[in-house]
Amino acid sequence: MMEKDIFLYNTLTRQKETFKPVDDKNVRMYVCGPTVYDRAHLGNARPVVVFDTLFRLLRHKYGQNHVTYARNITDVDDKIMARAHETGESIESLTTRTTQAYHDDMGALNALPPTIEPRATGHIAEMIALNEVLIAKGHAYVAEGHVLFHVPSMKNYGQLSRRSRDELIAGARVDVAPYKKDAADFVLWKPSAPDQPGWESPWGRGRPGWHIECSAMAGKHLGTTFDIHGGGLDLIFPHHENEIAQSCCAHDGAPLAHVWMHNGFLTINHDKMSKSLGNFFTVNDLLQKHHGEVIRLALLSAHYRQPLDFSEEKLQECKVTLEKWYSALGNCTDIENEYADLSQRHQLQVFGPAEEALCDDLNTPQAMTELNQLAAKIFKLPLGSDERKKLSHTLRYSAQFLGLLYWTIDQSKFDHLISARMQARHKKDFAKVDQLRAEIQKLGVQIEDGPKGTYSLRPFWG
Ligand code: AMP
Ligand code: ZN
Repeated sequence: MMEKDIFLYNTLTRQKETFKPVDDKNVRMYVCGPTVYDRAHLGNARPVVVFDTLFRLLRHKYGQNHVTYARNITDVDDKIMARAHETGESIESLTTRTTQAYHDDMGALNALPPTIEPRATGHIAEMIALNEVLIAKGHAYVAEGHVLFHVPSMKNYGQLSRRSRDELIAGARVDVAPYKKDAADFVLWKPSAPDQPGWESPWGRGRPGWHIECSAMAGKHLGTTFDIHGGGLDLIFPHHENEIAQSCCAHDGAPLAHVWMHNGFLTINHDKMSKSLGNFFTVNDLLQKHHGEVIRLALLSAHYRQPLDFSEEKLQECKVTLEKWYSALGNCTDIENEYADLSQRHQLQVFGPAEEALCDDLNTPQAMTELNQLAAKIFKLPLGSDERKKLSHTLRYSAQFLGLLYWTIDQSKFDHLISARMQARHKKDFAKVDQLRAEIQKLGVQIEDGPKGTYSLRPFWG
């Protein structure tokens, strides 16, 4: 069996390292998920697509059932309370609706569902328990209904962001509250007013701080120490720094995760896309105009640690690239054999050049270059030749790690519609011809009438 190492850049060490899981029968990854008060914008989709690509690669290397990927839903948060208050919608309805929309949007980008999707409100008991441990070990204290993490109690606080103490305090933008022992101390638990969501706790009715949510959920589902923790660059500080502080101090110094990975920002005219700047559009908006596969390729077109400046031109380029790749695949009549071939390759753990590029810290631009070269080779080979078929299979096989070229058709339904349409053309029943064209397009196929009534198969991008 061919062994191929995966190299990942670790924010903690600022180095690319050979990835060595704690347990290669259960590789564990946690990625911070959405706060569900509004539809995800395109910047929020970047970590989802990036870590989905890593998830696919890990599943290939370690086996489909040997990777556990947890991505949480933050469904208790002040932004959620504010939105519900503004619109009059109940918190429960708002978070349920937004979670569903998130699943729809990320599904349209062909992101696999994570193995586990814990919700913060389902883990309040674990958060309370974690606070109690931190208090008992002298890392947290109670003040005016709050529980606060005492930053000076942790000798190596700041190891991930490597900021000076002053920078930490300025960057955290935490309130300078009179009950804090130290300006850098952050909230683990806070009191709730009667009209705010809250849970009974040893410190009165209240709700968790954001950071403790992830520590508690990651600990419950992935254990004290797991392999990879991911999120966007903006989460390094304070969110991930504080997750580390909470979990390490509760577990007597055991690391929370070995590898910390952060994606760069998606930008618009070089400004970070964000709700607060107002320069955002939602994934759902974009899906009205562009196929999810095109958007996904655009999100993978830059290396994940680099900024990605998004534009309409980029989408057009990606669309052209995908059309080229699909036409190199040819039509999909051989799909059954193709999948038999794919699963065999999985068993043999074959790594083609595109997969090798991904093993090098998820080098998606290089993987795209490899797929382009493969397509160029395919076009040079005679149609229908075995060699051409073989390379087409390799193209589809490799593209799946990027979550691309997944489009296939229901062949028998397609054949049926095509012959019905031919008949309608013969009878000059043009209304029927058009109606059948629409039905064929619904299958995801664009057809063009040639002089002999031929059609060509290519994905219908909407
Ligand atoms: P938030 O809902 O702001 O906590 O963001 C959810 C995820 O999206 C986090 O991993 C953020 O780091 C990430 N994120 C937010 N804005 C961007 C952006 N413009 N580019 C890339 N990632 C982002
Ligand atoms: Zn988190």
